[in-house]
Parts: sequence; structure tokens; C-alpha cells
Amino acid sequence: MMNQELEKYIRSIKNFPKDGIDFKDITTLLKDPKGLLQTGNALYDFAKEIPIDKVVGIESRGFFYGPLLAMKLQAGFVPIRKTGKLPAETVHQTYALEYGSDTIEVHKDAIAPGDKILLHDDLLATGGTARAACDLIEKAGGEIVQISFIIELAFLNAREKFEGYDLRTLIRYD
Ligand code: IMP
Repeated sequence: MMNQELEKYIRSIKNFPKDGIDFKDITTLLKDPKGLLQTGNALYDFAKEIPIDKVVGIESRGFFYGPLLAMKLQAGFVPIRKTGKLPAETVHQTYALEYGSDTIEVHKDAIAPGDKILLHDDLLATGGTARAACDLIEKAGGEIVQISFIIELAFLNAREKFEGYDLRTLIRYD
């Protein structure tokens, strides 16, 4: 299902968090009862036919729908966090940013070998974060069966980084 009609709930903020970036703000979608529900239902529709053991959400905006999806799919929820936030033993993955690098982590015991994983975040931009999350999940032994986002900045061509994956998005900006 294509849900470009959900675009009306997204607010664009020019030059946030820095000059030249047109930030897509999903808080205007979340605060609207119809926007919140329709988005949740549409993300659930993407995944409802696939067996899923765990939904993995990426900090921090992947934590809004991640647990809701997990509840509806009768799966568990696992957070991927920025380095230093998780208390127990972790597996980590470092990835390149425009300037410098970043590291994300997941608890070592959060993903069992062979677990079927739905990876979720709010927005796909360059794909660097989600690509690192895929590598992290696979390093932990998980099998990624779907990746879903609310928004795709399609003009950045991140899909090239996810060949062979079932990548779903609700709202695309060309
Ligand atoms: P990427 O790694 O370049 O694909 O960036 C995606 C990550 O940055 C996601 O975790 C997003 O939450 C965040 N992000 C990048 N641009 C935006 C935006 O315009 N709105 C909301 N989040 C964004």
C-alpha cells in the first residue's frame, strides 16, 4: 500500500539541525490521532504476513513505532542505541558519517542466532545508519526479513545499499 497521503502530517523545517538541511519532523504525524493510527496500521500491513521474532528499533525515533509494531506482531522489541547507553555486554558497529564516525550497539543476548528480525526507523536518508544496523544484527546472528521506515528521502539513493532486502517505506520524497 502506498501512503503518500500521510505526507500531509509531516512538517518540514528548513536549516535544522544545520544550514542546508530540510528536516522532516514526524512529531506532527504522531500528535494527530489519524496520522498516528494510519501510520501504525500501514507499517503493520507491510509485515503482518511474515513470521517475525523481534522488531529492532534504531535510537531514537525508531522507538516510537518499534514497540507498537512488536506488540501487534506478537514479537519482542530490541533497541539499538548509540554507544555507551546499554548497561550489559554489547555488540557494536562503527560507521562513517560525512565528518567522522559513529558507533551503535545492541545487547549481546538480545538477538538469538536465527531470530527473524524486522528493522525499523523513522527515516531513510543516506542509509548509513540502517546499513550499520543491518551489519550489527547480522553480526549478532539475526536474519533480517524486513526493513521499514515511515519516510524515504529517495533522492539520496540509499536503496542501493540494501539490495536483496525487503525494504518498505510509506512516504517518499523524490
Ligand atoms: P542516514 O543514516 O543518513 O540514513 O540518516 C538516518 C538517520 O538520521 C535516522 O536515524 C533518522 O532518524 C535521522 N535523520 C536524518 N534526517 C532526518 C530528518 O530529516 N528527520 C528525522 N530524522 C532524520
